[in-house]
Amino acid sequence: MSGEAFVTLATTDSYCMGATVVARSLRRHGTTRGIVVMVTPNVSQQSRLALESVFDEVIMVDVMDSEDRLHLALLGRPELGITFTKIHCWTLTQYSKCVFLDADTLVLCNVDELFERDELSAAPDPGWPDCFNSGVFVLRPSLHTHTGLMDHALQHGSFDGNARLHYVSQGRLEIVHFLGPVKPWSSSSQRDDGSSHDLYDFKCNLQRCHLLYRVGSRPCLADALQV
Ligand code: UDP
Ligand code: MN
Repeated sequence: MSGEAFVTLATTDSYCMGATVVARSLRRHGTTRGIVVMVTPNVSQQSRLALESVFDEVIMVDVMDSEDRLHLALLGRPELGITFTKIHCWTLTQYSKCVFLDADTLVLCNVDELFERDELSAAPDPGWPDCFNSGVFVLRPSLHTHTGLMDHALQHGSFDGNARLHYVSQGRLEIVHFLGPVKPWSSSSQRDDGSSHDLYDFKCNLQRCHLLYRVGSRPCLADALQV
């Protein structure tokens, strides 16, 4: 199949709020690509229904956990093992190319140009600039690659410190990534009912964006992806 899609992931009702914002921000800026969310079985039916109203496809996947406690402890984010679930995006072979977006990203303009890039395109991590940040990346779904990644992770762990990819960097701020333990939805609202939400009040979060923007050690940042 030749279709292309943006893909995000939500394993909890809280992250569904972020996922909804990702989809709405993509639609607001007129994407011509599909918009897909992967969810895990523990996401409530109410949240799934809310996602179905903004996403083209809601795809159920299994939870995976990297259990990479050493690196997660170094990051101070023991809860992030579950983000390994995003590897499922390589199984979406109904699409020829995908752009994965974390559920804590916000698209500020049309970013369809990302589909002109190859696997694997991403931006450097602001904290560990010799690694890429997995909040936004371009991939080609392939069961072969998926199996290879799973095997590699089983043998070497999910973090091997190697990055062979194309760094994305250009002029202006197009995608904001609210990385870190505090998310826009955790500070502004504790609603966990899966109901639909408007785009974040960008002004409220601007200060945090700028802070994130400054902590990076390169002009091209993962948390404020410039394309
Ligand atoms: N995620 C999720 N449930 C979790 C943690 C993470 O669905 O409990 C997904 C979600 O798409 C999230 C991504 O994994 O955006 C990466 O996690 P997070 O954004 O919290 O990591 P950070 O970008 O802060 O390092
Ligand atoms: Mn993130």
